[in-house]
Amino acid sequence: MKTELSIEFFPPQTPEGVEKLRAARARLAVLEPEFFSVTYGAGGSTRERTFAAVKEIAAEGHQAAPHLSCIGSTRASLREILGDYIGAGIRRVVALRGDLPSGMAETGEFRHANELVEFIRAETGEHFHIEVAAYPEWHPQSRAPVDDLAAFATKIKAGADSAITQYFYNADAYFHFVDAARALGVDVPIIPGIMPINGFSKLARFSDACGAELPRWMRRKFEGFGDDTESIRAFGLDVVTRLCERLLRGGAPGLHFYSMNQAELTLEIHRRLTGN
Ligand code: FAD
Repeated sequence: MKTELSIEFFPPQTPEGVEKLRAARARLAVLEPEFFSVTYGAGGSTRERTFAAVKEIAAEGHQAAPHLSCIGSTRASLREILGDYIGAGIRRVVALRGDLPSGMAETGEFRHANELVEFIRAETGEHFHIEVAAYPEWHPQSRAPVDDLAAFATKIKAGADSAITQYFYNADAYFHFVDAARALGVDVPIIPGIMPINGFSKLARFSDACGAELPRWMRRKFEGFGDDTESIRAFGLDVVTRLCERLLRGGAPGLHFYSMNQAELTLEIHRRLTGN
């Protein structure tokens, strides 16, 4: 079975991090992902590092997709960044609102991701394949699911080509979200974002912060393992592999892995899914 894959990295901060990412990428390249994406610190804090990672990925012959967030930014600065990407031969971006870094008060010239999508289309026509974010368990700041879904549809209608979801461990939330989006006329691919599980406490903190649910039965199992990293890893691999199987069987058009710059878990999940 061939599964469409994409794999996400964050831009490393140190020379050692750059080396580690190169090594992870070399191992992940055997999966022949459709693209590697690189996150972007809201407010432009990783602008140079994201660009450097993206150029390196493209130079290795892979399709690279920089994330780009608009909160705290001006039209002029985003125009410049898009121009740099066009100059570097980049054809795909992940367009986001982002979150204002603490201490930064200026929201800039954009309020929501749909405005960024409109801006990219107005400035660059059809040059970029534009991905946007989707939230099967709803964005934490949304007032009600119905508002979040409508905002998602607006973002797609602004010109996005496909969407990648926040991670989740409940396949029904994804299927329900896709059905609801289709009912609103959204017909682009909605790719589930998959977070392999490397440890418990960090994942629990992160999930609380970004509004992704870690189901109670999983939390209790993880807590019960204490410091037993082997059991945590084995359980995490089982849970995430089964989730991926269910998503693909249910019609998910591919998988987007939040790799956290590590190859091992993504490779193992892929091996279990495909048998090679
Ligand atoms: P929006 O789509 O703008 O939505 C934000 C909130 O506003 C939602 O509650 C929505 O319901 C509401 N809303 C949207 N449009 C409207 C509108 N027109 N009117 C009224 N309300 C509206 N963060 C980073 O900083 N860097 C990254 O690289 C990054 N990559 C990500 C990749 C993926 C696949 C995902 C799922 C998230 C990523 N994030 C990243 C996190 C993201 O920036 C945050 O979740 C952020 O809070 C929302 O960004 P968004 O693009 O979804 O915003």
